[in-house]
Order: sequence, then C-alpha cells, then structure tokens
Amino acid sequence: MRAVKTKNTAPELRVRSLLHGLGYRFRLHRKDLPGTPDIVFPGRHCVIFVSGCLWHMHECRRGKLPASNVTFWREKLERNRRRDQRVQTQLQDDGWRILIVWECETKDKGQLTRRVQTFLEQTVRD
Ligand SMILES: [Zn+2]
Repeated sequence: MRAVKTKNTAPELRVRSLLHGLGYRFRLHRKDLPGTPDIVFPGRHCVIFVSGCLWHMHECRRGKLPASNVTFWREKLERNRRRDQRVQTQLQDDGWRILIVWECETKDKGQLTRRVQTFLEQTVRD
C-alpha cells in the first residue's frame, strides 16, 4: 500500500467539483491552518476535510483494518486519529467550523449536496 495521499484525491475532487457547481468560492490546502484543511471558506470561517476511510479510521466497511500486519496498521492509524483530533481542537479553538466528509460519503451526490449546504449555510457571512 502506498503512503498517505492527502491532496487532490478522487473523493476530494468530487467534493470540490460539487461545491463549484453550487457556486461556492473556496481556497485549497491552506498551509497556515492546523492540519492544512482540504477546502477552506475564509469568509464563512468554515473548513472541510475530505478523509479517506481507511487512513482516518471511519467506522464503515472501507475503514476496516487490513488483515495483515495488524499491529503496524493499528499503531499507524491510531496516530492519524490522534493527529486529526488535535488538529480539529486547534481549529475549533481558533473559531473555525469543521465538516468531515468521508470518502464513502462522496458517491451519493444528492446527499453530499444537502450535507455541505446545511453546513455552509449555518454560517453567518461576514
Ligand atoms: Zn467510510
């Protein structure tokens, strides 16, 4: 298995294209923010992470640990999870709202549209 691919993954591109289609403006991979969020809406103070189910231990079929090298994977993925939690706490402390979109949730366009719209429209524009 390859190293973690964090940018411009297929699920992330699906989310970006959907957001474009809805007319939202956003920035990508802001390195000055904790965790380099995938998609950033500076005016709304919102960020979206598009997370791979395996790498970020989603509780779904795709998030299951690989059958071999279980100890290695568990430690590696637990480190990812702890880092995710640390990053999310830092962002929230700085006043950012966070939406996690899981890889497995990017296939259903209708449902994804409702989720991102609900999330983004809760935010007061400045
Ligand atoms: Zn999943």
